[in-house]
Amino acid sequence: MSIIRVAIDGPSGAGKSTLAKAAAKALGFLYVDTGALYRTIGLYVCNQGIDPSDEAVVATALPEIRVELRYDASGTQRMLLNGEDVSGEIRLPEISRYSSAVSALPAVRAYLLETQRNLASKHSVIMDGRDIGTVVLPDAEVKVFLTASAQVRAERRSRDLEKMGTPQPFKEVLRDIEERDWRDTHRDTAPLRQAEGAVLLDTSEMDFQESQAALLAIIRERVGQ
Ligand code: C5P
Repeated sequence: MSIIRVAIDGPSGAGKSTLAKAAAKALGFLYVDTGALYRTIGLYVCNQGIDPSDEAVVATALPEIRVELRYDASGTQRMLLNGEDVSGEIRLPEISRYSSAVSALPAVRAYLLETQRNLASKHSVIMDGRDIGTVVLPDAEVKVFLTASAQVRAERRSRDLEKMGTPQPFKEVLRDIEERDWRDTHRDTAPLRQAEGAVLLDTSEMDFQESQAALLAIIRERVGQ
C-alpha cells in the first residue's frame, strides 16, 4: 500500500491531537504531533533563559538542541531533548508561550522542517500542526482544517489543565488562547490558515464521538479506506 499523508491544521485547543491520535489508531497510521517539536525547542530556550523573540540568539542555540521523537510501547509519542524525556514538561502553560514565540522564527521553522518531512516519507501519517497542509506537506492526500470557537477551546483546555494537576483561572486560559491565535495567524512565516483543498471541520457544537466520526468520514472518503 502506498504512503498516505493526512495533514490536520488548526488553532490551539481545537482537539487536533486527541482526534488525530484516535483517527491514526483506527487507520493504523503514525500520529505525529508537530506542536511537541516546537514545545521542545521552547523548553530549551526557557531553561537557558534566552529571550524567545530574539532570533539571532535562538538561531545560535539551535545546533545545541537535539530534538528526538520516539513512540513508547503503547504507541504514545514521547519527546526527547538532548536525550532526556521532556514529554510532561513541554505541556506547562509557560512552555506554551515560549513555543508560540519560537515558532514565529523562520530559523526554528526551517530547523524542524526536515524532521517532519522525513517522518511522512517513511510512514502513512496523520500529522497535526499549524502549517502542515500549507508548508510541510502541501501535497498531502487529505487536508483538514480543524477548528472550534475560542470559548469552547478555552473550556476544553481548562479541563485538561485541571486533569494534569495544573489548573489555571478560565480568564487566563481564554486570554492565552486568544493571544496564541493572534500570533499564529499574524506571523510572517507560515501563518496559520486553511490550506487550499482543506476540508473545514468546526467541532464547536460536537462532542468527541461526533468529531471523531466526522474526521474519519472525511479521511475515508478521500482515501477509500
Ligand atoms: O499544537 P501546540 O499547541 O502543542 O503547539 C505549540 C505551539 O507551536 C503553538 O503555539 C504554535 O504556535 C506552534 N506550532 C507551529 N507549527 C506547527 C505546530 C505548532 O507553529 N506545525
